Amino acid sequence: MNADKPTIKKIRATAAMREIMAEYFHQLDEGATSGRAKIAWCTSVGPAELLRSLGFLVYFPENHGALLGASRAATDLIPAANALGYSPDICSYLTSDVGSYLRQSTPLTRAFGMQSVPRPDVLVYNTNQCRDVQDWFAFYNRETGAPMVGIHTPRNLDTIDSELLENLAAQHRAAIPLLEEISGNTFDIDRLREVVAASYRCTQLWKKVLRLATHRPSPITFFDGTIHMGPAVVLRGDPRAERYYQTLIAELEERIAGGVAAVEGEAHRFYWEGMPVWGKLRDHAETFAAQRACVVASTYCNSWIFEGLGEDDPFIGMARAYSEIFIVRSEEYKLEYLRRMAQDYAIDGIIFHDAKTCPNNSNNRYGLHQRVTEKIGIPHVVINGDLNDLRMYSEEQARTQFEALIEQIEENAS
Ligand code: SF4
Repeated sequence: MNADKPTIKKIRATAAMREIMAEYFHQLDEGATSGRAKIAWCTSVGPAELLRSLGFLVYFPENHGALLGASRAATDLIPAANALGYSPDICSYLTSDVGSYLRQSTPLTRAFGMQSVPRPDVLVYNTNQCRDVQDWFAFYNRETGAPMVGIHTPRNLDTIDSELLENLAAQHRAAIPLLEEISGNTFDIDRLREVVAASYRCTQLWKKVLRLATHRPSPITFFDGTIHMGPAVVLRGDPRAERYYQTLIAELEERIAGGVAAVEGEAHRFYWEGMPVWGKLRDHAETFAAQRACVVASTYCNSWIFEGLGEDDPFIGMARAYSEIFIVRSEEYKLEYLRRMAQDYAIDGIIFHDAKTCPNNSNNRYGLHQRVTEKIGIPHVVINGDLNDLRMYSEEQARTQFEALIEQIEENAS
């Protein structure tokens, strides 16, 4: 097995991304501390477009959770939430974020000079991804008194029918009077159409970024994707996100034209299923690069492609976009989705991450990993870990499993 020193290629556009992310956080901070803007907290696949159309600045606690993980602050903060009765077994975004609030310590201080996360005027969630988001926002509802609005989406969906879409669209519409009252603005359907259209364009550009990885060698890795998805997560519906992805696409196309690979000498192509281990992104990128293996695609990064936003009716568009994503779907749908992804990206092996505190995004627990290998003939490994709680993760065990998968692929090929 070839294990030379890895080279991680830097993406030039990262500097531009950092600038717009900094601008986003400074605006939030300024708006919240001056009282000049109303702040809505929103779950990552919640109705951000509706909130932006009403003039809210939108803050995403899951993005803060990922920052707590990536900065490796999470593991020390989680016990503070555990002491309040939040189990170590539930979402470690939730527990590290609550711990961060209780200890008054956030990586936003070091990164952007913010004393704290922006105080919410309203908390808006969608249960499409899990119930944890509701309990997470309920904590802040009790702490800050900010009202809470929920969109309740059923899960394990095989098909998305018109009855479901009408129900979800009605839930979005029902939230408007309260949101108008808090924002002080009147709802304007044309403004919503504009924001939804901008979000859709952003989603299409993000999709283009990810699809460039179908090229061999790939110009981008999953680990790059977890960083560069930032604008798609927090700034969809804002023209700055679109401009950023045009810059990134130009750079990646330049790499493709020049035959420049994200992983030099790319020999194997992998798919990452499940959450990233935020505190180990660099280690993982280096481990794979050392083996000439590129993780070219993932369910996670693709979860911010919202095709449904292209619908004519913006309410139906949001309803469809936020209910047709992978995490909301049935095991049969997921199997077919993974088959298509493996085919499109010419995948040699799949890594299933069993994130201990996120059963919702760990798809190995009911045999899907076995069925994927049986159906499409591609080997897999399951690594045990977590998105944020590094006490659940063993570096050595994961490395051994990655290497075993590569050995198996090389043996099969010989
Ligand atoms: S999907 Fe998982 S990581 Fe995301 S909020 Fe829910 S439990 Fe947490």
